[in-house]
Amino acid sequence: MSKNELKTIVALRGIGVSPGIVIGSVYVFNRQDVKETLYKLSDGESISREIERLKKALGKSEQELLDIKGGLKDREGIGPLLIDVHVMILNDKAFIENTIKNIGDHRVNAEWALKMTISKHREMFDKIEDDYLRERIRDVEYVGQIIQRNLSGKIHEKISDIREEVVIVAKDLSPADTVQMATRKIMGFATDMGGKTSHTAIVAKSIGIPAVVGLEKVTGEVNTGDTIIVDGTAGVVIINPDPEVVKRYEDKKRHYLVMEEDLLKDAHLPAVTVDGHSVGVGANIEFIEEIPSAVFHGANGIGLYRTEFIYINKEQLPSEEEHLSNYKKVIEGEGIKWATIRTFDLGGDKFISDAGLAKEMNPVMGLRAIRFCLQEIELFKVQLRAILRASVYGNVGILLPMISGVKEIVDARNIIDEIKEELISGGIPINKDIKIGIMIEVPSAVIIADQLAERVDFFSIGTNDLIQYALAIDRVNERVTYLYEPLHPAILRMIKQVVDAGHNAGIKVAMCGEMAGDPLCTPILLGLKLDGLSMTPLAIPRVKNIIRNSTVGESEKLLKEVMAFSTASEIKEYVKDYMTKKFSEFCPVNW
Ligand code: PEP
Ligand code: MG
Repeated sequence: MSKNELKTIVALRGIGVSPGIVIGSVYVFNRQDVKETLYKLSDGESISREIERLKKALGKSEQELLDIKGGLKDREGIGPLLIDVHVMILNDKAFIENTIKNIGDHRVNAEWALKMTISKHREMFDKIEDDYLRERIRDVEYVGQIIQRNLSGKIHEKISDIREEVVIVAKDLSPADTVQMATRKIMGFATDMGGKTSHTAIVAKSIGIPAVVGLEKVTGEVNTGDTIIVDGTAGVVIINPDPEVVKRYEDKKRHYLVMEEDLLKDAHLPAVTVDGHSVGVGANIEFIEEIPSAVFHGANGIGLYRTEFIYINKEQLPSEEEHLSNYKKVIEGEGIKWATIRTFDLGGDKFISDAGLAKEMNPVMGLRAIRFCLQEIELFKVQLRAILRASVYGNVGILLPMISGVKEIVDARNIIDEIKEELISGGIPINKDIKIGIMIEVPSAVIIADQLAERVDFFSIGTNDLIQYALAIDRVNERVTYLYEPLHPAILRMIKQVVDAGHNAGIKVAMCGEMAGDPLCTPILLGLKLDGLSMTPLAIPRVKNIIRNSTVGESEKLLKEVMAFSTASEIKEYVKDYMTKKFSEFCPVNW
């Protein structure tokens, strides 16, 4: 299959320099670099004219910087300070004298003379060993660009000209560009260039807008008006996300906005209830770049690695080695003790259909996930081989999505067994006892959970799809969002049935749908006796906090009470009331 068969969703990894998540509309800030051309000066008169031109441009540049500073609301922060630094560079005696000298000595125009001065500075800075200090050449270069723009005499676009609420995408941004974002409607930015210690990064952090730099080719992938997600915490940018991904990131954003210092302090304490019941708390990730955030927020394992993005936006399908390298990075991630790798949930609307895959009327109920894998077995095998090879590097489990019946497990296990044998006979080390689990996200799987439990090592309940299928609500359709109720009595009964079936068969039952990270649901899930909860990293501190301040006994009582209600709204109100009374003091949240 080629790139054309995949949707044009694009995911890029860069350096997250300012945390937070923004979903918005792209504005490509495309300030053309000034191309310095060389021309030779013939006489003393033209030399004097060139020096005059330089002085004028220096004056204009200083005024430009002072105007930016004057327009800042915050007069004390890092922004005005950096503008002062740039003004200092601009007025540096040696900087100016050198440039003037270049004009006279080499008989070159001001642009070329300035370029020579900057090159000289670059040579000097290149010799500096300290990363931070070496990076300061960027400030000299930014100042150089301002002067070059003013020498060119052309009108250039300014950040302050942008009036809409947008996410800026640019090749590079200077600190002077970035400071202006504080007073404008700029929601975040993503750039091709830039590093962690750049002043642009420091400014972004200080004004608190999500930013990812060093993306190398983001400007080549977007147009003004495209939808973009900038995850400054993980350093990931997603262009043209599908509605499901947007939803997931909206959820992450919500958690980010309510994160509190107090919760973070205790995020690493174990998730054990007051009466000693331990819950395995893991993180849901899509990119390996999210691992540091997962660990920082209190996960010691990955409960759901959605591997879809390994496939998306690729020239070719990922090789076994590429898969392996991703899985090793997850398993060997600092602070990660275990990882559940879900085989890819692609297919349906995530493939464009010229590979003989018919365009489907109902892609979410179409040829996706395990169904697709069992038809495209060679593709499936590549991923499975990589997971099996990765299994010797740590505690790894395989998670199969969208299982609807026993046959799919039998077929998938046969393929896994076949690969195990191939690898073993080829002398490639694997963990023969790797745990194989399934997602419970299709209603039929709930009904026959007892039969499925006999054939796998663990369950992970995917409430995102389970609610969608069980309540017949398209999970990304805004018009029926009001019906999407995790606390619907039918859903609670289904979860109970799955947990009971799993426990009767002696296997663990976890949950990895968004419900697992919804703090309002935490006591209910404790009452339901889930063994593990995996969620978006930012949800972890609060959920762990609630677990640590709960008892299973009390949660079971609450569950029993709510099970007597017949509507989701009654249950929700009752739980809200319970949570407000019990948790609002130390864990305030707008339930
Ligand atoms: C789910 O359906 O709950 C789930 C975790 O999987 P995804 O959101 O990737 O479909
Ligand atoms: Mg799902």
